[in-house]
Amino acid sequence: MDEYDIIIIGSGPAGLTAGIYAGRQGLNVLILEKGVTGGAGLMVPNMENYPGFEIVSGKQLIEYTKKQTLKYAQINEVEEVTGIDVKGENEIIVTSRKNEYKAKKLIICTGTTHRKLGAKGEDEYLGKGVFYCAVCDGPLFVGKRILVVGGGNTAAQGALFLDTIGSYVAVVHRRDELRAEKYLKKKLDDQGIPIIWDTVVDEIKGEMLLDKVVLHHLKNDVKKEYDIDGIYIAIGESPNGDIAKSLGVEVNKAGYIITDEKQKTNIEGVYAAGDISVGFNQWVIASGEGAVAALSAYDDLQK
Ligand code: NAP
Repeated sequence: MDEYDIIIIGSGPAGLTAGIYAGRQGLNVLILEKGVTGGAGLMVPNMENYPGFEIVSGKQLIEYTKKQTLKYAQINEVEEVTGIDVKGENEIIVTSRKNEYKAKKLIICTGTTHRKLGAKGEDEYLGKGVFYCAVCDGPLFVGKRILVVGGGNTAAQGALFLDTIGSYVAVVHRRDELRAEKYLKKKLDDQGIPIIWDTVVDEIKGEMLLDKVVLHHLKNDVKKEYDIDGIYIAIGESPNGDIAKSLGVEVNKAGYIITDEKQKTNIEGVYAAGDISVGFNQWVIASGEGAVAALSAYDDLQK
């Protein structure tokens, strides 16, 4: 069985940064990633609040960070973790779909997954007009009509990105105020992106491809059908918490892992960082938490 000082689950900003910090302390580090490096980070369009870059895409930042991480840690892609057994101090068995490993410490950086709307037709038209990643799927809709659902930063950033690449965009939001940061609200205004307030999506329809949506205007209780080509759903996230659950790691009501200020969970030798842990979901914060988790694990290994 291959042995590591630290195994990190997940290779988003938190997992990669933890890998850099742990590796630079001379620790032997393995990062297990169920998909490709970057995870949901790859879906972030243009970020304007990551220090050091006036503007950078999630894909670019992941590329730079992956290259840097590989100097210090091994990354195994397409290797999903299926089981963890904390046997005792400095002895954690991690089972993946391909292998079994022994680690002294474990850092969980499994992030979040997009939430579903639950509207009729949402699943049926997935990939036929319904999408959850503006960067990945947006370019298919250049010159077409897209509805963006949601009022948070992801929806606002996605709408701005889709508008910039040449789609005709409108935002649909269930309330009369956006949750997105003020700077993004102003940009939506400046780019002249219309917002349909107090409205939810009732149904997504079409022939082979999505071509209509039924919107329900909540204040006047009117339902109306609109012709559209695509619908980008950005209504928030749910934690990827299966591993936490299986281990008995303490989580809050919403399922996010509770840690102390050193990113330690309630289980000895197990740390969590990034969007899966309670706190603000921001790239720079996820990276910071990854660094803290790695340094805590290192300190604990010295004891
Ligand atoms: P979010 O902040 O939770 O916003 C979700 C939005 O979707 C809210 O406006 C919410 O409406 C709406 N919504 C939720 N369920 C809905 C439903 N069933 N039907 C219709 N609308 C629904 O999620 P997010 O925008 O994905 O952001 C997630 C986290 O990442 C946040 O912490 C955010 O700050 C962070 N983030 C930061 C940046 C950045 O810094 N630039 C970029 C992207 C994301 P209500 O407002 O009515 O609740």
